[in-house]
Parts: sequence; C-alpha cells; structure tokens
Amino acid sequence: MGKTIAEKILSVKSGTDAHAGDIVIAAVDLAFVQDTTGPLTVRQFQASSFKKLAHPEKTILFIDHAAPSPNSALSNDHLLLRDFARQTGAVLSEAGEGVCHQLVAEKYARPGDVIVGADSHTVTAGGLGAFATGMGSSDVAVAMGLGKTWFRVPETIKVEVAGRFPKGVFAKDLILHLIGQIGADGASYKSLEFGGAGVDRMPVSERLTIANMAVEAGAKVGLFPANEKTKAYLAAQGREGDYQPVAPDADAVYEKIIKINLGKLEPTVSQPHTVDHTAAVANLKGTKVQQVVIGTCTNGRLEDLKVAAGILKGKKVARGIRLVVGPASRSILLRAMKAGYIQSLVESGAIILPPGCGPCLGLHQGVLGDAESCLSTANRNFQGRMGNPKSFIYLASAATAAATALAGEIADPREVM
Ligand code: SF4
Repeated sequence: MGKTIAEKILSVKSGTDAHAGDIVIAAVDLAFVQDTTGPLTVRQFQASSFKKLAHPEKTILFIDHAAPSPNSALSNDHLLLRDFARQTGAVLSEAGEGVCHQLVAEKYARPGDVIVGADSHTVTAGGLGAFATGMGSSDVAVAMGLGKTWFRVPETIKVEVAGRFPKGVFAKDLILHLIGQIGADGASYKSLEFGGAGVDRMPVSERLTIANMAVEAGAKVGLFPANEKTKAYLAAQGREGDYQPVAPDADAVYEKIIKINLGKLEPTVSQPHTVDHTAAVANLKGTKVQQVVIGTCTNGRLEDLKVAAGILKGKKVARGIRLVVGPASRSILLRAMKAGYIQSLVESGAIILPPGCGPCLGLHQGVLGDAESCLSTANRNFQGRMGNPKSFIYLASAATAAATALAGEIADPREVM
C-alpha cells in the first residue's frame, strides 16, 4: 500500500513501516522554542533532570514574540533564554532577527525533516516538505533532551489544487477559502497534504503561507511536496545541499480528497471572531477599520511587501488609518529596503516595525482600542488575540490589506492592482 508524505517521513525517521494510526518514536531534526513558551520549556527541561541537550546545534531559542521587550517581566524571560543558551550551547536567535517560523524556513528546515516547536505555527515548515508541528512546552523539553519524540501517524486529507491564481488572488485567499469550507476543526489531527499542478508551480513563499494556517483547520501538519521550486528556494538561501525530493506515493491512501481550482478563487476575508467565518471581500467592501497590519509569519515575506508597496507607491493611506508593517525577518527587511519597498511604504504613511511578531499576539506595537477594527495579514482573529477583547480582527492577504489601508475601509485589491 502506498504512503502519504506524512507516512513516508515518519517511516524514515522512526525506522518502521509507519501507517496512519500507528504510534511511532521518531528522531527529531530540529527543536525550537520562542520567548513566550521557551521559559516554561527551560524550566521543564531542568525539572526533568536532563543534563544536556541531545543536539545543541539543532536546538534554537528565538526571541521574537516580544522583541524588543516591552516590559521587565518579558525582559527577564529573555535573560533566562540567553543564560540557557550560554549554558547548553543551544542556538540563540536574538531580538530583531525575525519570527521563528520564517527563520526556520530560511535557515534550518530541510525537506523530509521532523521539526517540533513550542508554537502552533511550527507547521509553516511543511511548505518545504518537513513534518513540522507544534507541541506543548513540556513535550519540546523532552524532545530537546532525548533528540526524539512520539507521534500518532496522522490520517491525510489531500488538497488537490488545479489552475492559476487570478489577478489580486493569493495563497492567503486559498487557505482562507479552504478553512471556510471545512471549518476550524475540519482537519483535526490530520495531515493536510497539498498537491496537483497548481501546487507544483507554486513558489515556496506561497506554500509557507498555506502551511502556516493548516493548524487553523486543526491539522497536525500542512505538507507540501519538495520539488524544483523547493530546490530553488533553498539555493537562494545558500542551502541547495539541504534539498531532497519529497512526494507521496502514487497509490497513497487518503481519508478524503478536496479539489480546489485556483482560477475560481476570489479575494477572501475572515471576519471576527473565528477564522472560518469567511466571506468574499466583495461582500465586505465599505467595512471601516482603524488599523491595518501587514506582516507576521503568515504574510510578512518579501513577496507580500512587494505587493503592498506596489499598491501603495505614490499614494497615501487613508486619514485615520494606522498602517503597521512588520517584515518577518532581518533578511526580508534588508531586501525590501534594497528593492525600494520600504521607501514606498514609509512614504505612503506606514509605520515600520522591527522584524518579529509585532502586534499579532497583542503584547505590544499596535494593541487596539475598544470597538476598533483591524484588518491583518496574520492567521488568528479570535476575540482578544490582538490584546483587547473589545476589538475586532479581519484576516486577509497583503494585497487586500494594502487596498484597505488606501481606502480606510475593507477594499477589493483587484480594483487597485
Ligand atoms: Fe505566532 Fe503571530 Fe508570531 Fe506568527 S507572527 S509566531 S502567529 S505571534
């Protein structure tokens, strides 16, 4: 019987003939934490009497969620992570380097890897063909100490993608459409495996956006095959040697197959307060917002800044709009500066944040006021996500965000591109 991508990776990493439903113990290629989950992981690691990390060079501590720190409690958490890195040899990614998931994609994730992170959006690296998943702080502490962990091999839902994106429609619209269709629990503990001609020609930047939000449908992993596009992405990061092809067997067994034609998609928005409360942007035109956020691990990549800068160049954001832009990594910020995207965005009225999570989780850098609304390119819009339970969050692509910033109300990017 043929295997899905999840079954193939977990077979190799566990040294067993793994099939959906099996419990396996798999070698972990990379384990990481960030600054809100890391302190608990460190304490659990110490409480579990581990004396050293199984693989210090494959253990990364990211300071990205509250970076630079907005208060003394978080500053002390950062000190704890810095001390732990010094003591154990773990790799420390300092404030200003960027969001963990973007940096994992740029620097560490390899097709076929098993990656665990104390953050639910660890699934992002599935865009490179890695079995990457979020775990609790204690589970990650054990993986850091042992260099392995256990999994129940997930059943797989195949998403068969055909066609090409129409103008103004992007990967974000695809994943919002899919989640709207299957619901926020529509893929609970499944592997969402993407394939088809529409995926074969999709660049890794778009795959990462889609894999990032697989967990918003409850998925354990969001997996893409690794092909020539993956090879090109790794080569651009100076990591061509990390490439290996990853693909499902032709006779793999799927629990379900969902077909999506990119040509039929429209710009899509998730409305407050659930990610699966989706609507075509055309139905929400005119909805007032006070803040627009372009950034995060979902859509803070160079391609997103390029699209936004293209829409905003030579124009001004609407009066009363705060446009907050957070590049997902230092490398993205530098490249966006060189390409002139940052210049265009700043001239249009944008506030540029340091690379990191920014206002996504409501700690700082753009907390909303009572009854205010924000359209964000992030991945979550539950009540209180951005720091104020009395505010409202809409989720959309960078193009929809830029069009909205221009109009001061939710707007259709196809009308300004
Ligand atoms: Fe989490 Fe937002 Fe940071 Fe991504 S950008 S890791 S979703 S807080």
